Amino acid sequence: MIHKQAIQARERLLKRLSSTSEVLRGSLIERTTRHTSGCPKCARGEGHPQTVLTISYPGGRTKQFSIHSEQIPQVRQWLSNYQMLKETIEAICELNHILLRPDSSVRKTRSTLRD
Ligand SMILES: [Zn+2]
Repeated sequence: MIHKQAIQARERLLKRLSSTSEVLRGSLIERTTRHTSGCPKCARGEGHPQTVLTISYPGGRTKQFSIHSEQIPQVRQWLSNYQMLKETIEAICELNHILLRPDSSVRKTRSTLRD
């Protein structure tokens, strides 16, 4: 790929970065909380299903947030927005690798001129 193409591809990716602050990093996990005594639901073996957002940090530290069921669609959307942004940024970085190398189209033009 030549520089011009890489720059055009980068411009297309930039549009996908359409500024959003609605982003979340982490993952949603389902788990069941069980009380040891005094809860009829848990006594029946049902427990309380819970959705938790888990975020890991460098060094193995994690944060967890309990997510209400009505917030789940929003959280999923925000997680997906984050993934999309991350993939787009990665793709732009890959294109920039091309820009760090000499432009093959420029080299071709020069050799044509010499001929
Ligand atoms: Zn319970």
